Amino acid sequence: MIRYPLRPDVWRGMIDDASAGWLERAAARTDAFRAAGRFDESSSIWSQVKRVYMEVQGFKCGFCERRLEKSRFGNVEHDIEHFRPKRLVEQWPNEKVQIDRGVAFDFELGSDADPGYYLLPYNIENYLISCKTCNTALKSNAFPVAGPRTIAGDQPRALRGERPFLVYPLGTVDQDDAEDVIRFEGILPVPVATRGHRRRRAEVTIAFFALDSREVLLEERADAILALHVAMSCLDDARESTRAAATLLVERLISPRSPHANCARSFHDLTLAEPARATAYATAALDYLESIAD
Ligand SMILES: [Zn+2]
Repeated sequence: MIRYPLRPDVWRGMIDDASAGWLERAAARTDAFRAAGRFDESSSIWSQVKRVYMEVQGFKCGFCERRLEKSRFGNVEHDIEHFRPKRLVEQWPNEKVQIDRGVAFDFELGSDADPGYYLLPYNIENYLISCKTCNTALKSNAFPVAGPRTIAGDQPRALRGERPFLVYPLGTVDQDDAEDVIRFEGILPVPVATRGHRRRRAEVTIAFFALDSREVLLEERADAILALHVAMSCLDDARESTRAAATLLVERLISPRSPHANCARSFHDLTLAEPARATAYATAALDYLESIAD
């Protein structure tokens, strides 16, 4: 994960440009949920602003950083995800996750709730784009917290007291920058903090989205690391055309718009600071790719 910088006024402007009057229509719907005491409607309007999130996130999943389809056909691959569940909150890890995936923690992750965060279905700071694996298969209606749940909260920024475990990557809604929570050692995500809530956030987020075991993520990160390793070693090549290509490739791979940017940036920083360790990770990435080759 990485943070995507986004100022609140710019954010609202983008929403308004995408769908004139949407913010007012959203506010009216929220008022209806407030009166009813729960989320309930027959058709939704959040797909009208979905493209804003696709573009801000560089057409990547906000959780696993996989690249998703960019063209006008891409809508189907991108899920607009409600970070805090709108209808109900299911406990995580549930029994199935504990048994099937061996996920267990020795600290509390909050209880379930019905209704869910019924004042947030139309809050623009409660959306992000995610892939179907992260959203549908893994996140579903879960939202683990370390603090007390505030179901009737209507502004995500004001809900930091819930101490969520999952990291929200857009703007500064979340006090933690995702790259201050999770970095990468080679192809594997690791917590940055050695203790405290920030370390637990990393542990939970990694386990929640299986960021350390999904084969496609490991394979794509290994590709990125190898490309970066070769490109960085060609930055001083004798041939001008090779130097230019290497420079462009490095820039592209560590750009926030590139898939697995956190992994690539971790490797890039390590190459500058400790080249021998970085080379060992590049070798391990190559070994990994060879081990999964047919
Ligand atoms: Zn994903």
